[in-house]
Amino acid sequence: LLNHSVSELKDDIQVSFEFFPPGTEKAEASLWEALDRLVPLAPRFVSVTYGHSEEGRERTHKVIKQIGERTGLTAAPHLTCIDTPEAELRQIARDYWQNGIRHIVALRGDKQPGRQYTNYYASDLVRILREEGDFDISVAAYPEVHPEAKSAQADLLALRKKVEAGANRAITQFFFDVESYLRFRDRCVSAGIDVEIVPGILPVSNFETLKRFADLTNVAVPSWLAQRFAGLENDPTTRSLVGASIAIDQVRVLRKEGVKEFHFYTLNRAEQSYAICHTLGVRPQLAKAC
Ligand code: FAD
Repeated sequence: LLNHSVSELKDDIQVSFEFFPPGTEKAEASLWEALDRLVPLAPRFVSVTYGHSEEGRERTHKVIKQIGERTGLTAAPHLTCIDTPEAELRQIARDYWQNGIRHIVALRGDKQPGRQYTNYYASDLVRILREEGDFDISVAAYPEVHPEAKSAQADLLALRKKVEAGANRAITQFFFDVESYLRFRDRCVSAGIDVEIVPGILPVSNFETLKRFADLTNVAVPSWLAQRFAGLENDPTTRSLVGASIAIDQVRVLRKEGVKEFHFYTLNRAEQSYAICHTLGVRPQLAKAC
């Protein structure tokens, strides 16, 4: 990687950015600020997560429409199926299709305490979407295994089922152990999963929040990571720099291992993702013409 020139790299690498729908005016301003900064990097798509509440879900639909209108980028809504009847999922898909939305991130969603669920897996949602339109469909993958999976092999087969149902790519849960991603990618190939396994990169800015989230999602937090953030509890600026440098190390190794697509969990902030992209040679498209 180090011997590659920037001009070689920038045409080679594709990035995508994930956002969440803002719930307040201030959060909305942060989202647009982040998008303004990241749009010139010409991401392949930008995606917006889907929550549990009706209000949150409306926000996703609204933000997706706005991103398309304001930026011209491919805006990909996340859609979950676990608590939504099939007829409603079909209606959402049709509405998206009619509004020009062509890329959907298809997920099962997490179980919420005290709620009733259908038996849908994400593979069922992929099948429904395939029947409703010629969508570009991304699904989730778990290098360190989904917490509810019976085994790593069962989880791998669940991913294969999503691909067989028509998914075009898998985006991974975030991870810090690059080896776990590389082993998982090899296992996908052995299992006949022939879509791109796009690594999900989470630039850490708050280690305590990360630990809680990693616990819930079965993601290993190596001791070296804790050590890098030790003593920075009251120093967000340094934490952000350290978090970016960790992710930069990660993407450089992945790049060397042939990874060409990266998905960034931006948490609606641009600076770290922008810096990481810069080191990958992903620069504002204006610079390309120079
Ligand atoms: P599935 O692929 O259905 O898998 C769920 C579990 O069921 C796994 O343990 C799997 O091994 C098992 N399984 C699957 N099929 C079968 C089968 N046929 N038989 C037996 N077991 C099976 N959540 C949100 O609520 N909103 C979001 O916007 C969102 N975005 C995400 C984006 C990414 C990139 C990722 C990685 C996750 C996201 N999530 C989101 C979280 C996701 O909804 C949860 O991880 C959820 O628990 C599983 O979703 P899935 O699509 O992977 O489900």
